[in-house]
Amino acid sequence: MPLKLIDETTPDGHERLLFAEDEASGLRAYICIHSTAYGPAAGGCRMWNYASKDDARHDVLRLANGMTSKNAMAGLSLGGGKSVIIGDAAKDKSEGLFRAFGEAVHSLAGSYYTAEDVGISPADMAIVARETPYAVGLEGGDHGSGDPSPFTAEGVFQCMKAGIEELTGNSDLSNQRVLVQGLGHVGMSLAEKLHAAGARLLVSDINEAALGRARVHLDAEVCPVDAVFETEMDIFAPCALGGVLTRETAQKLTAKLVCGAANNQLATAEIAEVLRARDIQYLPDYVVNAGGIISVAGEIHKAGPKYREERLAGVALRVREVLAHSLQSGKTTTMVADEMVEGILSRAIVNQKGAA
Ligand code: NAD
Repeated sequence: MPLKLIDETTPDGHERLLFAEDEASGLRAYICIHSTAYGPAAGGCRMWNYASKDDARHDVLRLANGMTSKNAMAGLSLGGGKSVIIGDAAKDKSEGLFRAFGEAVHSLAGSYYTAEDVGISPADMAIVARETPYAVGLEGGDHGSGDPSPFTAEGVFQCMKAGIEELTGNSDLSNQRVLVQGLGHVGMSLAEKLHAAGARLLVSDINEAALGRARVHLDAEVCPVDAVFETEMDIFAPCALGGVLTRETAQKLTAKLVCGAANNQLATAEIAEVLRARDIQYLPDYVVNAGGIISVAGEIHKAGPKYREERLAGVALRVREVLAHSLQSGKTTTMVADEMVEGILSRAIVNQKGAA
């Protein structure tokens, strides 16, 4: 049986939603293109053990939408898209599965570029790339950008320094107590940078080995997973899961700044107002964590390191702009950032119409 590709109806604002199914390899995946107003859509592929096909559909729609905002704010000529493979990344990977996924990506003829996200490694992406040139985040070659995580961490670190400078007039992190939640690909790299910068490091993870490494090599103090919101800190860096800031945790959080890599840190949009009312400055996740997609964009455009460095520096500049405007206007940082994205996208649409 060949690969089955089914176009599903999309909610308003999303351009395309494709369900790919391959009986031989067991592939069941969604690819969503939210917008190509600013260029071909780009966004990673996530492999996750979703409880249902509906859960996967909901996630891909939400994540693809988020990529449009992220790419626009990062100043990339790329639209927003995302893909999700339904399955257990520890058990269900196979060459056939990734080749079938590559075929599905290729069927979109370059309107969507895929790369690594949660559960997907550069080795997996290398298999996808045998079927399509629209797979990036590859290791080696002239323009291969490899694992995007170190660049995401660098962007978060630069934003943290910019954020603290906006608040205190000094970007020095050496007196700041920073809690990194999640010591995975991004969180550990961020923790290393914070340690080198002399920050007082607190770390929290469910992975004992990662905690051990941070304790031994980075002089980190371990915070139990269920004590994060009871702990004194200056800066909170969520680098594990989304939805960690709820009405309850936002009321308890002791930090003055939130700056981390996790996508969708606010459980619901109104949490931004809870934080603002408590004088906690939240640096919007999709602005802060763009380093990875910037690295991937360099590969798509076959650009040199200068392309990446300039855009990475731009992330911290954008964060300063968002924070300064929020402090001055009393609007939440998410409201300010969302308005900036709307402005960028509406200009792109006008330019597209003008060119047509
Ligand atoms: P990862 O899977 O490598 O790391 C996640 C870490 O969080 C793991 O160490 C895990 O043990 C830990 N964790 C899980 N549950 C936890 C809990 N309850 N409390 C504390 N720690 C917990 O993922 P990653 O690539 O480092 O990404 C981290 C986050 O950043 C994700 O939300 C991801 O979507 C987002 N993000 C990553 C990138 C990137 O370049 N990797 C880019 C943008 C956004």
